[in-house]
Amino acid sequence: MRYLVTGGAGFIGSALTNQLVKDGHEVVVLDDLSNGVRQNLAPNVLFQRGDVNDVPRLWSLLQDVDCVYHLAARVSVAESLLYATEYNQTNVGGTVSLMEAMRVANVRRVVFASSGSVYGVQHEQPVHEDDIPEPDSPYAVSKYAAEQYVRCIGRIHNIEAVSLRIFNAYGAGQPLPVSHAPVVPRFLQQVLTGGSVVIHGEGSQTRDFVHISDVVAALVAASTASDVDQQVINIGSGEETSISELATAIGTVTSKRVHTIYPNTEKSGGVARLVAEISRARTLLGYRPQVDLAEGLARMLREDHRFSQRRVPAYA
Ligand code: NAD
Repeated sequence: MRYLVTGGAGFIGSALTNQLVKDGHEVVVLDDLSNGVRQNLAPNVLFQRGDVNDVPRLWSLLQDVDCVYHLAARVSVAESLLYATEYNQTNVGGTVSLMEAMRVANVRRVVFASSGSVYGVQHEQPVHEDDIPEPDSPYAVSKYAAEQYVRCIGRIHNIEAVSLRIFNAYGAGQPLPVSHAPVVPRFLQQVLTGGSVVIHGEGSQTRDFVHISDVVAALVAASTASDVDQQVINIGSGEETSISELATAIGTVTSKRVHTIYPNTEKSGGVARLVAEISRARTLLGYRPQVDLAEGLARMLREDHRFSQRRVPAYA
């Protein structure tokens, strides 16, 4: 099959693209490299640097494409609090541009990378796809709005549309920006450099950490599964882990003593609890998470050159 992966030079997009290429597919990547890295991709990927809002470019890239994976987005909840306009322009506007271009190009299916953050605060855990979303950041609103556009334009123009609500993905190659770094690589770096693990909030807030290989397996399955048109599907581990438990697990896997500090800061730890109910993914995608947190952290230590001595490219 021939795929277009938007945001394909990013953390999840590059892991997905490299898997599709290994499986023998043709893959075109569109990425503006605002957060992605060209070198993440296998050499035989057709790479185009560009913006997902560039409709004429999309028309040409979509020729003969069977399925689009739409991952291009700005991805920081914290940053979105300050840049709501930009988040709307890329995450919502970019999705509408892509769906409009797909309509013209006659593409069969789109798989959209949505987010578990759309649920916001929910009293019942684990969260189920039928729960009413309460997105509480511009990022979460943008992912929910994009889901709605994917469904609506897909339904009107006969494009099969499926949204995967990915929870806290982690793994080798995850970006580690100076500000707003995701919690898993940030804690690993803090522990391995002998620093203190900084926990915002009390450490009791929970998340669903899902290993990149399980996310990629779900994305791959979503491009060919039957009965997924118009669906939203949770992709998590189904396991609830507190931030304090994560810090302890990182101490265990690194064999380092973890010094924890809880700074006197107004920055909250986000929603108190979030864990995915994953039975829909099991039924529709045959999804079975394979990598638990201990194994996932051990793999990250082995495979990520920032945390190990390994010096081979991510696609090898
Ligand atoms: P990432 O930042 O590594 O990947 C996003 C990619 O999109 C980057 O390579 C970036 O350069 C590119 N991009 C940004 N704006 C663009 C634009 N206007 N045009 C073209 N490319 C653009 O982030 P990620 O963690 O790999 O996330 C990938 C997708 O999965 C995103 O849509 C994100 O919302 C979603 N998601 C991620 C997680 C997670 O835990 N990582 C959880 C839920 C959902």
